[in-house]
Amino acid sequence: MIQDIAPHRFDNAYANRRPAAAGDRILCFSKDEIFIRECGGAASGYEFIKYEELFGGADADAGRQDCLTYLFSIDETGYFLMDRENMEKMAAGGEVGGFQPIQIFRTMPEGDTIPLAMMTGFHIYTWMRKNRFCGCCGHETQRHGEERALFCPNCRNLIFPQIAPAVAVAVTDGDRILLARSAQGGFRRFALIAGYVEVGETIEETIRREVMEEVGLKVKNPEFFASQPWGLTGIEMLGYFVELDGSDQVTLQESELAEARWFAAEEVDRDMALHSLSYTMIDEFCRRKLGK
Ligand SMILES: [Zn+2]
Repeated sequence: MIQDIAPHRFDNAYANRRPAAAGDRILCFSKDEIFIRECGGAASGYEFIKYEELFGGADADAGRQDCLTYLFSIDETGYFLMDRENMEKMAAGGEVGGFQPIQIFRTMPEGDTIPLAMMTGFHIYTWMRKNRFCGCCGHETQRHGEERALFCPNCRNLIFPQIAPAVAVAVTDGDRILLARSAQGGFRRFALIAGYVEVGETIEETIRREVMEEVGLKVKNPEFFASQPWGLTGIEMLGYFVELDGSDQVTLQESELAEARWFAAEEVDRDMALHSLSYTMIDEFCRRKLGK
């Protein structure tokens, strides 16, 4: 999964922020694109722009770093966010890199640190982009400085990063698993039933509601499997296995799903999309049933 980068270590403690220095990486996004460079020698095929490529010498100059926002660290390397305007000015005329669709992370191998860094950076970038102005009074917001937060100097409103809880549900019936294809978006492979937690719900209620809404089935005995940050959509995904409770007759919610049906473990296509919790759970189901 995207967060499984051992032996590397992801550290997002804001208290550990520091000025950028040589070797640190500069992330820059523009809507759904990331500024990055193709690199044949890297396992992922890409590499991020390094601090010294844009800022010259290794010495951290506080005044020049105003355009950088500390994001997180992986091992000893800091990751910083820069806006498009500054990136284009500082990278002008060079062969530093260019904008690529953020979806290129799907081509990168499991275990690589770049997909996690891209997605987490994108989550923070998206939150900052959507909160340039205070939702209470309309004044321009500022970076807080002491916390990973935005701050309204006019009405003192504090805005923290928004993370939406959601569930991925593997509905099982003995040796069968229910898989569905979405009717929306660009991703049309078979996956698990999934949906956002609604206001006022417990996770258990979300699971029952989503499965009933999307495929018309009753389920029981939720078993937590794993959680996963998914910065592309600002989600914290919670993965559960559940058992069918009653009729196995699928009633499709056509606005959400193009198709949903039961698969025996032997039928499942395990050559799956990388990085996602949904696919890790489908593979886990097959492993449990087939012993491999
Ligand atoms: Zn305000």
